[in-house]
Amino acid sequence: MNAYDIAIEQLKSSWKHIDHDKSYLEILSKPKRELQVSFPVKMNNGEVKVFTGYRVQHNDARGPYKGGIRYHPNVDLNEVRALAMWMTWKTAVVNIPYGGAKGGVTCNPKEMSKPELERLTKKFTIMISPIIGPYVDIPAPDVYTDAQVMAWIMSTYSQLVGHQEPGVVTGKPIALGGSLGRTTATSRGAVIVAKEAAKIVRKSIKGAVAIQGYGNVGANAAIIAKELGAKIVAVSDSKGGVYNENGLNPLKLLEHKEKTGSVINFPGAKNITNEELLEIKCDILIPSAMEGQIHKGNANNIQAKVIVEGANGPTTPEADKILFDNGVLLVPDILANSGGVLVSYFEWLQNLSRNYWSEDEVNKMLVKRIREAFFDIYTISKSKDIDMRTAAMVVSVNRVVEAMKLAGESP
Ligand code: NAD
Repeated sequence: MNAYDIAIEQLKSSWKHIDHDKSYLEILSKPKRELQVSFPVKMNNGEVKVFTGYRVQHNDARGPYKGGIRYHPNVDLNEVRALAMWMTWKTAVVNIPYGGAKGGVTCNPKEMSKPELERLTKKFTIMISPIIGPYVDIPAPDVYTDAQVMAWIMSTYSQLVGHQEPGVVTGKPIALGGSLGRTTATSRGAVIVAKEAAKIVRKSIKGAVAIQGYGNVGANAAIIAKELGAKIVAVSDSKGGVYNENGLNPLKLLEHKEKTGSVINFPGAKNITNEELLEIKCDILIPSAMEGQIHKGNANNIQAKVIVEGANGPTTPEADKILFDNGVLLVPDILANSGGVLVSYFEWLQNLSRNYWSEDEVNKMLVKRIREAFFDIYTISKSKDIDMRTAAMVVSVNRVVEAMKLAGESP
């Protein structure tokens, strides 16, 4: 099952609890627009390489398309389609006036220099420029893209339209109109819902936490959870993981990763595999890396009572069923990692109004909005006896279909 098959399966299974005409299921199963581009980039050794990139726009019934851009060797059309669809549900579940989109370039940024990445980003931006814009489609960072990449996109787009246009991307550097609190927003949101979910299952954020992925989402989640008293017992990245039942220091781990390129071989910790990390003894598990990590082969071995999906699509539909039957409280990606798009929305509002907020204002608003969404979805899941993913899908799909109907986008 690829990520797109999973996204469609999730939509289909939520439809049992949705009261709209089935034609909407068919409409929403397909993105509204898909753009695939090929473009040449001159590499440092003088060679010219042709890269493939995508921008998929799933639905814009509730507002401009919104979604990140990923640079990864595994990026393909089906992955981008799935990620675009999940963005539609994510913006709807936290009720912000956006639709859903996603983009990506198939490349290995770890093997590219900064000038090569800059040239790739600028070429890619030119290729997708006809379909992005501050009121049309607003990209943001995702796996292996960051504030610097957003700055290059913004400057290229601004040159094309003839004026500075900070609202075309979010997740920018502060000096170019980025929002305070954006870098840590996805993780802060995830940790807040982890704290609430833990209380429900009679555990605490002060318990043992394991985190897969030590990038923007994973590392910041570890740092913020530790500030709230969590014991970070295990973390991992693409090279493997480390474990210490007495707790790891997330800031020292980050220094170690910056110095050595990985969290593995961290002094005082035992090296483990990514598979072992998911099954480690802990109270809260925060997968924050790639799709399809929790599947029918390992779901039964998971010891955590709470799973908070920092990553998009880390759990397959078969694993969802197993975990629900095992009494694990899983907070789905479209809710758990929505802190990023919430603060992206705040950044966009600040750009359009040219009025900037303090970090405290951003964080307070983020915590308020994500807690409200968490309790709404949890209450629905309890009242209908369904898992939180299905409950979140029901709320999102209803919001999207209602907007489509009111706008006259009926079949
Ligand atoms: P990132 O590039 O900053 O970090 C990715 C991390 O995952 C790295 O530590 C990498 O080593 C690790 N990784 C890669 N492949 C792995 C594997 N097979 N096993 C274990 N670890 C692996 O990316 P990020 O922005 O932190 O994004 C991580 C996830 O969170 C993605 O699913 C992304 O779509 C999702 N997400 C990100 C944001 C955001 O604001 N950055 C928002 C919402 C969702």
